[in-house]
Amino acid sequence: MDEVRERYTNIISAYGRYFPLAALITYVVYDIRQKKPLNIMYFPLSMKVQGFCIGLADCDLIGIRIGLNENQKQITILHELSHFILQHVKLYSDNYGTMTLCKFLSSINLNDINTEAFLRHDAIVGYSNARELEAESLATLLSPCIINVGTIPNIIRDLYRIRG
Ligand SMILES: [Zn+2]
Repeated sequence: MDEVRERYTNIISAYGRYFPLAALITYVVYDIRQKKPLNIMYFPLSMKVQGFCIGLADCDLIGIRIGLNENQKQITILHELSHFILQHVKLYSDNYGTMTLCKFLSSINLNDINTEAFLRHDAIVGYSNARELEAESLATLLSPCIINVGTIPNIIRDLYRIRG
């Protein structure tokens, strides 16, 4: 949990007490993920799962369950960003076998995406309870800092390739 507190303190000292979600995305892309583009996309996930994150060959991907309300969406994005911030996700999740986004999307059977098996894929990190607790704690700490709940200007969407 010291790692959570340290990361939180670093973010607050860099961006202030309040900042837009875009600032946190910038932090993840530039300071954590070596300028890899980040895509946020929506999937028909199982009701048990709000989101997932993966380091693909050409970008990072945060997957969010379709149908969440704006608050749930934001807390889920914060949770997945927290996995990146806490270094839970390898830069290339499957090492040399890491798929591109295109390959990843075409390899997903949309009928199977509701199954736990899909989300337990080795490439997707986050199934140890300790890491889940850490990500959830950091997301909870960061949540009151975010300005403009649920609204991301189009220019930022374009800049950071945020979809949805
Ligand atoms: Zn998680």
